[in-house]
Amino acid sequence: MSFLSSLADRDRVFDFLVPATSPVDVRHGPILYLDGVSVTFDGFKAIDDLNLTIEDGELRCIIGPNGAGKTTMMDIITGKTRPDSGSVWFGSRHNLLVKSEPEIASLGIGRKFQKPTVFEALTVFENLELAMAADKRILPTLTARMSGEIRDRIEEVLVTIGLVELHHGPAGILSHGQKQWLEIGMLLMQRPRLLLVDEPVAGMTEQEMERTAELLTGLAGKGKQSVVVVEHDMGFVRSIARTVTVLHQGSVLAEGSMDQVSHDPRVVEVYLGADPDEEAA
Ligand code: ADP
Ligand code: MG
Repeated sequence: MSFLSSLADRDRVFDFLVPATSPVDVRHGPILYLDGVSVTFDGFKAIDDLNLTIEDGELRCIIGPNGAGKTTMMDIITGKTRPDSGSVWFGSRHNLLVKSEPEIASLGIGRKFQKPTVFEALTVFENLELAMAADKRILPTLTARMSGEIRDRIEEVLVTIGLVELHHGPAGILSHGQKQWLEIGMLLMQRPRLLLVDEPVAGMTEQEMERTAELLTGLAGKGKQSVVVVEHDMGFVRSIARTVTVLHQGSVLAEGSMDQVSHDPRVVEVYLGADPDEEAA
């Protein structure tokens, strides 16, 4: 039995002390921990001995050239792809490699794909309501008190994503950026502890990018969400980045502040010596 799994067993004794909405245990360590993860597709190592540690409340940016394994890494965390080796833990309690995709989602890991998938004919409010109803744990136990709580939560999320004024309108009339925020809001409805966001600012205006930077930095924080952002836009990464991880050929090439990694000769070489501000990640 590994050190981490024995910790997990010991902590189960204290399960009754932990609120059901916050099942992830970060008292003794990070919120997300990948150790020695590898996956091979048809003989090609897409992820190669990947190690990654995300602390509770952290906002982490992941960059790397096309094919570096960024999306595959998210597929592994969310249970869509199973690695050939390594371990993946959510807090000290949850071994993600033995859980299904829906189980991982209900533990509090929300993933935002690149394309917005909001329901255009429904209002902004209804989209958020539906996101909550999609939670199978809540639907069967829905009482009047619960639906009041859901309404409060929707109002809270509308403020967070800046769509209060538009909540009665159909989602179809929203701009591209607003649809992306609504989709982040739909994830927030279930109070995730970890958000994985794939290329949030692709196709956004400068102003929308600034607003998105505020939104994501505001979401991250201890006891709130931890946020992992994969993004190609270097200007955007520079504007939000605390720690940046550079993936290359399925493993971590460099990690540090934006300044540290963008001056790292290995990183410069991977980007073919291009100015990281000019070149896509
Ligand atoms: P990134 O998101 O960094 O651009 P990906 O994770 O999408 O990179 O891909 C990493 C590598 O793994 C690529 O070479 C890609 O072609 C390959 N790959 C990803 N998923 C699959 C799959 N399901 N089957 C075969 N090859 C895959
Ligand atoms: Mg990708």
